[in-house]
Amino acid sequence: METREFKAESKRLLDMMINSIYTHKEIFLREVISNASDAIDKLYFKSLTDTSVGMGKDDFEIQIVPDKEAGTLTISDNGIGMNEEDLDSCLGTIANSGSLAFKNDNEADDIDIIGQFGVGFYSTFMVSKEVTVITKPFGSDKAYKWSSNGVDGYTIEECEKESVGTDVILTLKDDMDDEKYSRYLDQYQLQTLVKKYSDYIRFPIKMDVEHTHYPEDENAEPEKHIVNETINSMTPLWKKNKNELTDEEYNNFYTEKFMDYMPPITHIHSKNEGTATYDALLYIPSHAPFDYYSKDYEKGLQLYSSGVMIMEKCADLVPDYFSFVKGLVDSEDLSLNISREMLQHDRQLKIIAKNIERSIKNTLAKMLKDDREQYEKFYDAFGLQFKFGIYQSYGSAKDTLEDLLMFPSSFNDEKRTTLAEYVDRMKEGQESIYYACGESQTKIEMLPVFEKVKEKGYEILYFTQDVDEFAIKVMMNYKDKPFKSITDGDADFETDEEKEENKKTSEESKEMFDFMKETLGDKVSAVKLSTKLKSHPVCLSSEGQVTIEMEKVLNSMPQNEGKEVKAEKCLELNASHPIFEKLKALYADDKDKLADYTKLLYSQARLIEGLSIENPVEFANLVCDLMV
Ligand code: ADP
Repeated sequence: METREFKAESKRLLDMMINSIYTHKEIFLREVISNASDAIDKLYFKSLTDTSVGMGKDDFEIQIVPDKEAGTLTISDNGIGMNEEDLDSCLGTIANSGSLAFKNDNEADDIDIIGQFGVGFYSTFMVSKEVTVITKPFGSDKAYKWSSNGVDGYTIEECEKESVGTDVILTLKDDMDDEKYSRYLDQYQLQTLVKKYSDYIRFPIKMDVEHTHYPEDENAEPEKHIVNETINSMTPLWKKNKNELTDEEYNNFYTEKFMDYMPPITHIHSKNEGTATYDALLYIPSHAPFDYYSKDYEKGLQLYSSGVMIMEKCADLVPDYFSFVKGLVDSEDLSLNISREMLQHDRQLKIIAKNIERSIKNTLAKMLKDDREQYEKFYDAFGLQFKFGIYQSYGSAKDTLEDLLMFPSSFNDEKRTTLAEYVDRMKEGQESIYYACGESQTKIEMLPVFEKVKEKGYEILYFTQDVDEFAIKVMMNYKDKPFKSITDGDADFETDEEKEENKKTSEESKEMFDFMKETLGDKVSAVKLSTKLKSHPVCLSSEGQVTIEMEKVLNSMPQNEGKEVKAEKCLELNASHPIFEKLKALYADDKDKLADYTKLLYSQARLIEGLSIENPVEFANLVCDLMV
């Protein structure tokens, strides 16, 4: 019998596949089953118009037969079958294989793309030393046998086969230390693989499954019996109509499939047609997985092409700020053999991702409106991600996320507020959204400027997370209202009268301020009269883009070590505090003492801000001088 050569490109691919070590050998089963399902589809379609097929929908099936003794795994279908020409052209070449085209362009790249996406029938050679295909096409009396060891080409000969369809017989490779091919003969392994990759194939995938029955009489031997069972669930949950499904079914599917012990907060089930045709089933978990805020966490949705899983975690389907979303997308528009790199450029996928982003946002916005308690629970688990999202996207995610943000605020100590609610409550004439940063609410309430701002009746957002201020700096404003820190140098909370008064005092004390500024040198950019202090004598405010809080955060990051960031600071003095009179008196009589007091006040202001004292020894000595 003549041995036919593989087509050139197939040869190269085979060689690459067989000689490379990768982790996804198991996908061969998915590929063979998908081919079987396609073949059945074709014959089923024919049967709708051609009565000579003589088969109804329920007659079609795929059988998996492991034979441990012979070391073979057979996958049989009663689909359309192949004639000699099909065998030669279909199994002898890999037409239009996306993975191959990609591989050619990227010779040096990781071989794993093949493992991820498979190259159809050829993947069988990753696990087999010999593959035999026995097939009888519909409408012919002849059957054929195709055989190959995957290296030297293949043979085709006529043979006997009773019924229409195809048997793919894999003679598995011998076990090696690092790879046990015999596991593909194990009942449990096969069941698991079918569940994992082919659970939603529309035709039954059957296998002989051994069951053990334990008789009531303890002394009697357990009975074993074998049942030819369907091991796939066939109809994917997401293909069903929403009104056929209960919350419990949705939740059970989630906990099983995404291995969470808690039911999700909510799900989003959508069927879409139009520019992209797909079904999506998304879940918002009720708690963050333990590794969520670590770099080990991998975002992504499962991607199916017509019920066959092609990717476990497709990261391109969800933006980072929605990385907590679990779920899957099933689209007929995607090919089974599409590679990860090609997916990234896939137009359909981009459209799907955009739609998904929108529907997650709308679902969350609706939850915030209709079920505040639920939303707050969600926000506790994942809200931080939104702030990172705004920051990391340099503000481009602002529109999507700004209405989902929440902050604690001085309006109600127990409840958080959204920015929209804050803006609704803004006082007449209030132009900015005021906030204050600190480690905790209590610390913020202790800020020297807090008292006065609160007294003036302005609401203050509490920023207690490091990322808060960075995020709103990137946002710049909300509904055209700029954000302003209450410690900002130019934040003012004065009435016109008070302003007038201040101006006068400032002018009178200008020389003293200059003297104090000189004493402190470049530690501060100015010493000035405060407009925001009530009972405290001093505070520090910042000027420019970097605030004092940002200085703290940036300097505490390991990657910024050695590159100290400094906020431009102003020392602000409270003219209504008795110490102010004292300073004025010292300016007239004892400038040396004024210099010491200035240093003391500056150190105090640093302490109140949560900054460390720059020269602790000098500070301690100055305090001692005061005591003796
Ligand atoms: P793909 O399925 O992506 O086309 P494959 O390499 O898996 O690529 O298969 C090549 C072709 O071989 C299929 O398109 C089909 O025409 C044919 N084929 C494979 N398996 C079967 C089968 N079980 N029954 C009928 N035809 C098959």
